[in-house]
Amino acid sequence: MTAPPPIAPLLLDWWDAGHTDLPWRQVRDPYAIWVSEIMLQQTQVMTVVPYYARWMARFPTVQALAAASLDEVLKVWEGLGYYRRARHLHAAAQTVVAVYDGRLPQTAAELMKLKGIGRYTAGAIASIAFHEPVPLLDGNVIRILSRLQDLPHDVTQTATQKKLWQLAADLVPSHRPGDYNQALMELGQQVCLPARPMCLICPVASHCLARQRGTQLERPVRPPRANTPHYDVAAGVIWHRDDPARFLIAQRPLAGLLGGLWEFPGGKQEAGETLPQTLQREIKEELGIDIEVTQFLTTIKHAYTHFRITLHAFHARHTQGTPQNLGVADHAWVTIPELGTYAFAVTDQKIIAALRAT
Ligand code: SF4
Repeated sequence: MTAPPPIAPLLLDWWDAGHTDLPWRQVRDPYAIWVSEIMLQQTQVMTVVPYYARWMARFPTVQALAAASLDEVLKVWEGLGYYRRARHLHAAAQTVVAVYDGRLPQTAAELMKLKGIGRYTAGAIASIAFHEPVPLLDGNVIRILSRLQDLPHDVTQTATQKKLWQLAADLVPSHRPGDYNQALMELGQQVCLPARPMCLICPVASHCLARQRGTQLERPVRPPRANTPHYDVAAGVIWHRDDPARFLIAQRPLAGLLGGLWEFPGGKQEAGETLPQTLQREIKEELGIDIEVTQFLTTIKHAYTHFRITLHAFHARHTQGTPQNLGVADHAWVTIPELGTYAFAVTDQKIIAALRAT
């Protein structure tokens, strides 16, 4: 790698000339900055804005968050996705109150001891809230740095990541490190775009080797994408035998994908099964009851990071047995108006919409 280009003064001038005014950029409260950084992981800025406002209204301090129940926390996070972030934020808030007397640690190294705070988030909080000159590296920054240096190496490799972290660290100025890091993030979001880098208006174009060589669209180098697996999943709206207004919902186990969220119970189709058979088997395994599948309700397609699903929802009737929490954290017989008090993942919210529409 060539010597680090002196981009900090150019980026800071660009930042000072005008940047996007976001609610968490108007505060200096480390807790608020922490919340915004966790929400911004894997989620677009404009999606985060209303969630951030609702969250800060409901949990204005780390103490308020620590004192809330996990169900309340998940309800406010509902729809934002990647629910592990909310669970970790909640757990870390309780640690901050119990161990750090309610004050967030001020260095990246200490921050990384908290649940859900990785190197990137620690760098963002420490530099923005506490002015520590530490780097951050995410997909946007990787793209900018590998273009600036015209890096021909696969950025998913550990050795390349190590070099990129070192380069990012070498570039952070001791003066205004938080503004510099935010400027770098904004450059990645607005100027150095993946398929359309806007080099003509880029404040660091004079230092960009990829621009000089015309290799912008070949950087960063990544391995070809593997085929994403796909699963068919059956889910049931299981109506109560004796109370025609009530149906069964289940809470997912706390550990694992979408942990703690509520859902219409069901699971993955296995080879040789019809979807109604899948549903009957899953309900028996997870809740210990027998059901009769009565009617198709809707189909929903959804992509997660590492796999895709097609979710087939059915109406079903409870025929035998008493529900037990065999493969679920909890269960409840509810009516449609009661659904609003439970937090559901986005696919199950679509089942609810289909249910309300029938
Ligand atoms: Fe990205 Fe172009 Fe700026 Fe280089 S000059 S950092 S490729 S926008």
